[in-house]
Parts: sequence; C-alpha cells; structure tokens
Amino acid sequence: MTDWQGKRVTVAGLGVSGVPAAKVLHERGALVTVVNDGDDERARAQAAELEALGITVRLGDGATLPPGTELIVTAPGWKPDKPLFAAAHEAGVPVWGDVELAWRLRGPDAAPWLAVTGTNGKTTTVQMLASILKAAGLRTAAVGNIGVSLLDAVLGEEHYDVLAVELSSYQLHWAPSLRAHSAAVLNLAPDHLDWHGSMEAYAADKGRVYEGNRVACVYNVADKATEDLVRAADVEEGCRAVGFTLGAPAPSQLGVVDGILVDRAFVEDRQKNAQELAEVSDVNPPAPHNIANALAAAALARAFGVPAAAVRDGLRAFTPDAHRIAHVADIDQVAYIDDSKATNTHAAQASLAAYESIVWIAGGLAKGATFDELVAGAAKRLRGVVLIGADRALIREALARHAPEVPVVDLDRTDTGAMLQAVQEAQRLAAAGDTVLLAPACASMDMFTNYNQRGDAFAEAVRELGA
Ligand code: ADP
Repeated sequence: MTDWQGKRVTVAGLGVSGVPAAKVLHERGALVTVVNDGDDERARAQAAELEALGITVRLGDGATLPPGTELIVTAPGWKPDKPLFAAAHEAGVPVWGDVELAWRLRGPDAAPWLAVTGTNGKTTTVQMLASILKAAGLRTAAVGNIGVSLLDAVLGEEHYDVLAVELSSYQLHWAPSLRAHSAAVLNLAPDHLDWHGSMEAYAADKGRVYEGNRVACVYNVADKATEDLVRAADVEEGCRAVGFTLGAPAPSQLGVVDGILVDRAFVEDRQKNAQELAEVSDVNPPAPHNIANALAAAALARAFGVPAAAVRDGLRAFTPDAHRIAHVADIDQVAYIDDSKATNTHAAQASLAAYESIVWIAGGLAKGATFDELVAGAAKRLRGVVLIGADRALIREALARHAPEVPVVDLDRTDTGAMLQAVQEAQRLAAAGDTVLLAPACASMDMFTNYNQRGDAFAEAVRELGA
C-alpha cells in the first residue's frame, strides 16, 4: 500500500504508537480515524492534539469498526481476541501493528534490521548489539520495544547503516511481512500467555522474527524451542542457523572456551576453525545469562560482517541499564544487588543462578506464574528469603515444599516503608560473603508504579543501611 491518498485507516489505540502512526498516515493523505477504549484526561489531551490536525478521534469506543475501514493499524498491546479484530476479520480488513507500519512505509530501504526477541534479555542484548555495531564505526541505534520508536527511526532525518531492533511478542504478532537481515530468539519461557492464548501461539509469534531472514537465524543451543522455531521458519536461500552456547561451540556456533568468547560460525581466516572475540570478563556483568546475551549480540553483529575486535570493544563499552543486576553496595562484606527487572520466574532463575549464597528478596504480582521449579532450582544457594507483595504466599508455599529449612521472613505490609524493612531483614539473615538479591520474579504494580521505582526503593533502603 504505497498510495495512501484517501485510504480509510483506523488507528486502534492512542498512546506511544497510535499518536505518531495517526500523524504519519494523515500526512500521507489517509483519512484517519483513531478509536480508543479509554476516555481519561491523557486520552483527551492526545485526542485534542490529533483533532487539531483534522484527524477524527473516537474516545471510549475501541470495539466498533468505523464504516469503510480499509486497514487497521493497532497498538501492539491490543489483544487479538478484541471485537474490533473480529469485525475486521469478517470484513476482510488487514491489521498491522506499529512495526508492520514502519516496515511497510520504509523499513527495508531505511537500513537492514538485526532483530532480537525472547522472553528475557531483549533490551540488554539489543543495547550490547548497538554498542558493538558502533564500535565497528557503523551508524546505528537501538530501537523498537526499547524507547525509540521504529517509525521515528525509519522516517527520521538520521541516516543509519543498520538498526538493532528489539521486538516484543505482541509486535511480532502484528508484523506479518517483516523480513530482517538476521534475527535472534534468546529464550522461550511462559510469559504473556493470557494475551497470546497458549504457549504454542506465543512461540509462533516469537518465531515470526525468523521469517524471511537473509543471512542468519541465531538460536540458543540450551533452549531447544528456539532451534525448533528456526527449523520451522521460511528463510531466504543461504540463510544460516547459528547457535550460541555457554559451552564449547560446535561448527556454526558461538560459545565459550577457557574464558574466551569464540566464534565458529563466521571465521574470516580459512586457516582457522575458530575466531576469538573477547574475554568473558569483557561482559558486564559476567553472569551466565548475560554472557549468553553477549554471544547472541556478537552472533548478529558477526552476521553483519563486524570484525572480532569491534565485538570486544563494543562489549567493553557497554553498561547495563538500571535495575538489571545492578551492584548497589557492599556492606559488611555482603553485596546488595538490584535486579528489580526480574519480573518473571525465568528472569529470576537466571539471576539466582549467578550467585552462590543468597538472601533473596522476592514477591509482588505473580501474573499466574508458579514457583516450584524456580525455588527447587535455587534451594541449595538460599541462605534466607524475605517475601514482599500481594502474591508472596505462592512463593512461601513453594519454599515450604522445596526448601523447608531455609529461613523465611514474610512481610505482611505493602506501604512505602516495606522495602526498608525487607532490606533490614535481609541484612539480618546475611553473613559475610553472601549476596542480598532483589530478584522478585513478579511484577511490581501491587506496591510500586513500576520496576524502576521498586529498584530505586531497594537502593535507597540499602543506602540507609550503610549510612
Ligand atoms: P527484556 O527486555 O527481555 O525484558 P532485559 O534485558 O531488560 O530483558 O532483562 C530483564 C531481566 O531478565 C534481567 O533483569 C535479568 O533478570 C533477566 N535476564 C536478562 N537476560 C536473560 C537471559 N538471557 N535469560 C534469562 N534471564 C535474563
């Protein structure tokens, strides 16, 4: 659809994706109607801004398909079972998400896309990738589900050689024609199943990232489901399956040998069967799951032709975002680590695996998760546990089943002072050499605005301990 003049497009949802989408389509001559479920103050302000440009906005009615609609452009979070989409399906109207729109407007011409998805580690990996690409002297940006919108990236003034793109499962669901240069699925664990309907549907949406890849489909050797998605994908001829592993790599894989990240997939020197990229200690932090992220980023960069030295320089230049295994302080030989971003059990499992003797602060909103596997896997390394938040009973019960001898402090309060008490209790349980780890395995919204605020509260409490 290149001629937008007079096309009747319905934009579903205001907000960070809907408002720019509506503007871009309106500028191109489409007849845009925005429909939005909510009718609050923020929605009204956004509606007023669009109406001033001549765009029709319907607040408080996201269910009815405006007559004559030829295309829906939806906010990625809108669930596929919404009545609006049933009506669209019936009328034969296609539905695109924000990523599909960016792709169709200018995706392939703006710059090749190196895409990253997975249940956990997306943001970190995309930032590492951008750092590596920059170290290679390429003009690039980390975009997508990460803050900078794809529309801005592909339509803006800036010229890019290549884009490091983070894609969520929602975005992929609504992006049927996206074709990346290369893509990685980092891992697959149950998450957002209420949205997708089933694990199979969730995996299939993630797997879309591989469709049509030109150079490499990067998968996690330790997570067979990611490899299965590669095998199922329809890719361009010559596109390679490239695995990453924390062990020694087989041919066509990247992995680790004697503390060195090694590439056996993209070896420039025909005399050699492996190329050394960087040392494990170049990865920040050098926790196992993060080394996996670094290998995935390196694989994508190498698929794009980046030399080994730039991988090393890019990894060294990388600093993780806040609240992702952030070292807050050492007090009395106890390390205090903020991994507030561990909002699901799969993420918490990765951070618990990174330390030996742990006082674990956990709890919040469980989002339907179960905790048996997580607790059973970590039991041997737990010195003590402090539970906070609405669904802490679920974790307490799993602890009783799998780690009955580990002392547990169950904090029955959700006020703003709760985190300080949690950290004080953790300090009491910890001995020299231990790590106090905030890795809640739960969402934060029962007690905090978001995981950032939860992590800030933790850091603040730790500072009070140290004062
Ligand atoms: P995402 O963007 O997918 O949410 P982030 O890079 O923001 O991922 O990391 C979120 C959390 O997930 C981190 O705080 C860490 O606890 C965990 N994590 C990061 N990388 C991985 C990984 N490869 N496997 C499992 N958990 C991970």
